[in-house]
Amino acid sequence: MSNIHQSAEKVAAHILGFPRIGARRELKFAQEQFWRGEIGEAELVTVGKTLRRTHWQWQREAGLDVVTVGDFAWYDQLLGAAVLLGSVPARFGFDAKTLTLAQYFELARGNAAQPAMEMTKWFDTNYHYLVPELDAKTTFDGGVDWLFHEVEEALTQGHQVKVVLPGPLTFLWLSKAKQAGYDKLALLPALLQAYTRVIDRLAALKVQWLQLDEPALALDLPQAWLDACQPAYDALAARGVSLLLATYFDDVSAHAGLIKRLPVQGVHLDLVRAPQQLQAFVDGWHSEKVLSLGVINGRNVWVSDLNAILATLRPLAERLGERLWLSASCSLLHVPVDLAQESKLDGELQAWLAFARQKLAELSVLKGALNGADVQAALAANAQAIASRKTSPRIHNPAVSDRVAALTLADSRRHSPFAERQAAQRARFNLPLLPTTTIGSFPQTAEIRAARAAFKRGELSAAAYEAAMKAEIALVVHKQDELGLDVPVHGEAERNDMVEYFGEQLSGYAFSEYGWVQSYGSRCVKPPLLFGDVARPQAMTVAWSRYAQSLTTKPMKGMLTGPVTILQWSFVRDDQPRETTCLQIALAIRDEVCDLENAGIGIIQIDEPAFREGLPLKRAEWAAYLEWAGRAFRVSASGVADATQIHTHMCYSEFNDILPAIAAMDADVITIETSRSDMELLEAFGEFHYPNEIGPGVYDIHSPRVPPVAEMLRLIAKALEVIPADRLWINPDCGLKTRGWPETESALANMLDATRQARAAL
Ligand code: GLN
Ligand code: ZN
Repeated sequence: MSNIHQSAEKVAAHILGFPRIGARRELKFAQEQFWRGEIGEAELVTVGKTLRRTHWQWQREAGLDVVTVGDFAWYDQLLGAAVLLGSVPARFGFDAKTLTLAQYFELARGNAAQPAMEMTKWFDTNYHYLVPELDAKTTFDGGVDWLFHEVEEALTQGHQVKVVLPGPLTFLWLSKAKQAGYDKLALLPALLQAYTRVIDRLAALKVQWLQLDEPALALDLPQAWLDACQPAYDALAARGVSLLLATYFDDVSAHAGLIKRLPVQGVHLDLVRAPQQLQAFVDGWHSEKVLSLGVINGRNVWVSDLNAILATLRPLAERLGERLWLSASCSLLHVPVDLAQESKLDGELQAWLAFARQKLAELSVLKGALNGADVQAALAANAQAIASRKTSPRIHNPAVSDRVAALTLADSRRHSPFAERQAAQRARFNLPLLPTTTIGSFPQTAEIRAARAAFKRGELSAAAYEAAMKAEIALVVHKQDELGLDVPVHGEAERNDMVEYFGEQLSGYAFSEYGWVQSYGSRCVKPPLLFGDVARPQAMTVAWSRYAQSLTTKPMKGMLTGPVTILQWSFVRDDQPRETTCLQIALAIRDEVCDLENAGIGIIQIDEPAFREGLPLKRAEWAAYLEWAGRAFRVSASGVADATQIHTHMCYSEFNDILPAIAAMDADVITIETSRSDMELLEAFGEFHYPNEIGPGVYDIHSPRVPPVAEMLRLIAKALEVIPADRLWINPDCGLKTRGWPETESALANMLDATRQARAAL
């Protein structure tokens, strides 16, 4: 059955997917050149081919038994599946069968006539997929042949091929019905027909395995969707291609009975996220089916403890033999490509890390060990890396862990309740009704970025860099004074990125040179590596804020990134609970907050745009997360006096279901993104009687468009319907760093105009 093996009766290894961006982000650069018209389709296609060839070669060299085909995408894997199955949003007027690459990119990025397809986060990762659009008229009549060509490529290169596609249930679950009230499940039969046609073509190409990714099974699916599983897979079974149902990101043992009965030839489990689910599947495992175990972490960058994994696997290898496949927990899409390119990380740290290519090697060692190969040297080296990570003084700082252990309830509470703080703050700042502010950053001009780059290259002295940033701060403060903003900011010119800036100044953090991970399309992020106990050797922002305050009589707002966001946007250590790491960061931020207060900064914003995205996939686990995440925020914010005003900021989020937790953060002021939802988001805050002050964004900062005064005035009036005037702030939706100066100045001037008119009408 599991006839993929290089030799009989042995454990096999494979991966669910490999990053497609390339070790040096070759795909990104080629895509962007293509979009700018600098290269043609043929050149772009060649870049893709070369990347696939390399990635398959690496899998082969690591001794994997199959290469995975179908993980490549020109923009996104869900869009890839949509154009393969033949569903292209009708509003574009494209024919899926003859779709060109240029048209494909128009679906992803929009064109003059049509906005792009919507994009949203892939489960709880930082990857964003394009949301397939469905309605009652949607058909799946087949589309482009690209996947089959990729299969042929791999076969021509002499590989054993396993194809991967999003599974039908997950595809449908993640799609969006464009008609209110339309039940997407009604489209399942048509969708399944499209899948069967794809499977038949794969069978004709003699592909032996098709991996169908069904991470949706790890969510709280409605019963109707669970009931649809069996018939769906019945429809796909027995067409000459063996099916591997891949689950990941969480526990699916609640559906073990259902999954075991499905007519598939193998099942993959994520044993990194949910090791406890193994037993439910091993017990009574079908004697002919493959069990693929995701034992290497596909979501993080640390070396795996191979000896510990082997201890779990050995008895299973004995029982399952060739029916045991080893894998990473999920696709390696979520980790950087190759550690071997890093030249600036020190040797000790490097020994603790494994990027995608290194994870292939880990699989190869595990497989070798179970199949009787001599991998002693590799296992010994691995044991040594694990041991040094357990004991290294660079990781363990007793002063930090003691401080976390000594945290009391009082440390996560402001001294007085909000009403008393509000009175103290009003007496201190004497702000007008509807106070105006911004979210923090001002335009990051080419000059600012050039100065930072020159400074990093050593071409600009520290003194010259500081002078350049101070000049920028002075400009920003001056402009705000001219405009008449009540609570100015310093503009964040000195920050490259809101997490990296702090990571660079905290101990316990390291930075890779090429550790890029795809975020969406051609966009990649390079999350900092949080490897050890986090401490703050010295103040991080105080000098800049103090300087900014010296330039104005208005109360300068200090600007920090919150602990949950720093945690969420870093690769964090796996040797202690995330909660503990988050509290360590919270203490570092708390110290910074207190230092700002001591320097005379009376208003401090602690940004938490990633607060909601940290929510676990299963609702049953939400309360525990919200509890510790909220506590970490409060620890960071609660070291100050009543008269010091704490702000927080969150970008566009589905807040409705977590409002109690947001209120429990107890920030004196929260600013949120709302303008694109026409203040609808704010209504929930009103209905909930959100107790503290709130600044709903009155203009969208994502486009250069300058909203007219009347438009903002209307939004302010709408906000006043749900939030009393003495608790309402006026501000844009988010930071202005991606904007240019002309539109920024005009839009802020309009915002202040609208505010004055709104005040006059109160
Ligand atoms: N203070 C940050 C800024 O203004 C906040 C960014 C964010 O919300 N993502 O850029
Ligand atoms: Zn924001």
